[in-house]
Amino acid sequence: MIQPQQHTGSYYAASVNEVTDFAPLRGAQRADVCVIGAGFTGISTALHLAERGYVVHVVEANRVGWGATGRNGGQIIGGISGEERIARHLGRDGEQIAWQLAWAGNDIIRERVQTYAIDCDLKWGYLDVAIKQRHLRDLHGQVEALEKHGSKHEYRLLSREETASTIGTEVYTGALMNMGNGHLHVLNLCIGEARAAVSLGAKIFEQSPVLRIEHGDKPRVVTEQGSVTADFVVIAGNAYHYIEPKLRGYMFPVNSFIIATEPLSAEHVSAINPQDLAVCDPNFVLEYFRLSADKRLLFGGRCNYSGDDPEVIREMMIPKMHRVYPRLADTRIDYAWGGRVGITLNRVPQLGRISSNVFYSQGYSGHGVNVTHLAGQIMADTVAGTLERFDIFASIKPLVIPGAHTFRRQMTTLGVLYYKIKDRL
Ligand SMILES: Cc1cc2nc3c(=O)[nH]c(=O)nc-3n(C[C@H](O)[C@H](O)[C@H](O)COP(=O)(O)OP(=O)(O)OC[C@H]3O[C@@H](n4cnc5c(N)ncnc54)[C@H](O)[C@@H]3O)c2cc1C
Repeated sequence: MIQPQQHTGSYYAASVNEVTDFAPLRGAQRADVCVIGAGFTGISTALHLAERGYVVHVVEANRVGWGATGRNGGQIIGGISGEERIARHLGRDGEQIAWQLAWAGNDIIRERVQTYAIDCDLKWGYLDVAIKQRHLRDLHGQVEALEKHGSKHEYRLLSREETASTIGTEVYTGALMNMGNGHLHVLNLCIGEARAAVSLGAKIFEQSPVLRIEHGDKPRVVTEQGSVTADFVVIAGNAYHYIEPKLRGYMFPVNSFIIATEPLSAEHVSAINPQDLAVCDPNFVLEYFRLSADKRLLFGGRCNYSGDDPEVIREMMIPKMHRVYPRLADTRIDYAWGGRVGITLNRVPQLGRISSNVFYSQGYSGHGVNVTHLAGQIMADTVAGTLERFDIFASIKPLVIPGAHTFRRQMTTLGVLYYKIKDRL
């Protein structure tokens, strides 16, 4: 039997506005749409559907936001992974369509927070930092794209010196500041959206691992103690998903880890990030950081480790944080945690169907906070019969990664090693 779990020991779980306690699924239920998984993909889908009047049931193995959603860096990274590939695939007008898709998620988050007055520490302001010369060229390319397509938000390239004075470290050679990206408390956003969906009639069942989907005209989602028969099913389990083996082979689950310091002194805050920006480097084995609302430094990165021992995570992450911020050498670390990111081989998010009425959305390759919000809207469109944006993704065939889950640990080790070498070139 699969044991449902509570939240990990993350900063988010410790500072959440409310702990959800939705009852497990029991008995035979009926819905228009059954969503499996209550992370951003599942909850965003449910909220978009509930707003349109559908009867939606969300079945979650653990708790709302338990997966990558409630553990991530909280960085609203504009753009969509695999954007160039999507543009090429679409041909004429592809670039413009991909650009619109890439930024739509940020707007949805902005609207959701406003409409439902969600208390989630939302802040706008972001720095993409460069380490090498080629990264600076990429940032210039991003500026050209922003100029070409237009941006409602302020953006500007920073020199090496400006970067150092903006974030109090000499590690980076320059940066692109973009006020259209930002950061927030992800678990509070997800729970706020879940509450909004429930207020519109959606039902959420926690601590209810789905054991199987019985496919047919009316697919049936089955748990230990109950079932939901629906017209449509949306699978939103991402890198934690385990029921449809075909989907597991489409994605490579990579671990990412975060440490959170004690709240920093006003002196430290004004030295390292007075403008309260989220910061991310361009490597695949990347590092990212930002301040929380109570002024902790949340410092994250990818490492060659696939466990979840907080002591090991501290040992791996503290030297990385000290390299960027030697002045924090004496700062206490209060939290250390990790989670799984779903990476696809071609980096393109995977929105597709496994039968006429069972859809899935997964594999955001590290850009999940914004893209899950777009994905939820596209899933709701799809259920409502508008397939235009769904078909863009569904027509890009996912590449199968043999043994992606069975040999996850070994493949993570090899994959991280490969990308570390690539990052150094
Ligand atoms: C440490 C870390 C840092 C990250 N940082 C960022 C960042 O700063 N910015 C960014 O854009 N992205 C980031 N990401 C990626 C982002 O978090 C994910 O892309 C996004 O949260 C995926 O949301 P999801 O709802 O698809 O999946 P998840 O949040 O993983 O949710 C899947 C849910 O499905 C449930 N589930 C799975 N199987 C079943 C089943 N059989 N029955 C019932 N329920 C099931 C799980 O319990 C889980 O709650 C990060 C990820 C990690 C791990």
